[in-house]
Amino acid sequence: MPSPTERKDLAATAKMKEVMGKYYMELMRGREERRKTAWCTSVGPAELLRAMGFNVYFPENHGAMLGATRMATDLIPLANARGFSPDVCSYLTSDIGSYLKGESPFQKMKMPGPPRADCLVYNTNQCRDVKDWFQFYAREWGVPCLGIHTPRAIGELDDSIIEAVARQTEALVKPLQEVAGTKLDPARLKETLDLARRCTVLWKAVLDTAANVPAPITFFDDTIQMGPAVVLRGHPDAIAYYEVLLAELQSRVAGKVPAVEGERFRIYWEGMPIWGKLRDLATQFAALRACVVASTYCNSWVFEDLDPSDPFRSMARAYSNLFICRSEDYKEKYLERMMARFKVDGVLYHDAKTCPNNSNNRYQMPQRLQQKTGKPYLVVNGDLNDLRLYSEEQARTNVEAFVEQLAQG
Ligand code: SF4
Repeated sequence: MPSPTERKDLAATAKMKEVMGKYYMELMRGREERRKTAWCTSVGPAELLRAMGFNVYFPENHGAMLGATRMATDLIPLANARGFSPDVCSYLTSDIGSYLKGESPFQKMKMPGPPRADCLVYNTNQCRDVKDWFQFYAREWGVPCLGIHTPRAIGELDDSIIEAVARQTEALVKPLQEVAGTKLDPARLKETLDLARRCTVLWKAVLDTAANVPAPITFFDDTIQMGPAVVLRGHPDAIAYYEVLLAELQSRVAGKVPAVEGERFRIYWEGMPIWGKLRDLATQFAALRACVVASTYCNSWVFEDLDPSDPFRSMARAYSNLFICRSEDYKEKYLERMMARFKVDGVLYHDAKTCPNNSNNRYQMPQRLQQKTGKPYLVVNGDLNDLRLYSEEQARTNVEAFVEQLAQG
């Protein structure tokens, strides 16, 4: 029997690395073949860009790589020196620092670095930082920066919002056609949306396997496994991969094979991952026989509203239905549902210093939810990428005390 501290790798991960490697290779090949490259925010109109034949590149994925490889902490000061405050998104500052220094994890994959953009396309549904981030490069390279401005703190997602976002998305077509030098083929857009929707269904099914007791997968695994759902939605490779992963997880469920040996407690992770500390945290939770079973973050790439028969409106609905741009009341109800669905014993809120948008502990949410559900919570102060803002010792002690509290019921 594996010891509780042993990380149980999923066999599918080797295939995932292949799929991601192929994506990066194609990105680079596309540049060599003079295909146009569009940078896209993680919940930007990726389906539209893919359908138009762009090489689609996601800088937030690069930001996460800079965090996971711990390169970010040394690169952030370079962006700070150029006028980006240490308080703004550390994906932004580490990515710009990486550009300024000419150092990137891409080089470990024998690639020169992120592909230069022919245009940058954002959606402010997640935050304003993405627009400022993209505008830096647009100024630097003299290329267009286009975007969708989505309302924030949305309560009811009504028709006026969907219509406004759909019109903004449609308005991107003309300038994008000018950059691409081709016309949008409506049949290709429908096909891409169909592929993106199928990817979503599978990714959601993967995440949902963790509702089983014991859970066959942890949040820490999810942060690795989500790669294709982020960068390859609308591409058949993502679908093929999640079919393999889901089959492996279903077999774990059937055999009651736990992700965390001897699972005693189930915890919900609310907030951004701490990319540079995923392994250490996974090991600590496993040693405590506590499984972090689910998170809002990994569920943010579930777009069930996509509908090929109504492309622009359904994209608008999917991009605006996102947790991060919803009201406090909506978020509270969502979290309550997730806590019940995943049978959690407690919630860990990560207060990420440079991402207030994904830190949901700041307006009394933990207290309200504890009162409603009776489930305890812990707030961990840290950051997605800037490890100078994270005290490992303090976090370790607090996590231990939290699990102890769960043990005492
Ligand atoms: S949501 Fe947060 S982490 Fe993501 S780009 Fe915006 S500020 Fe950065």
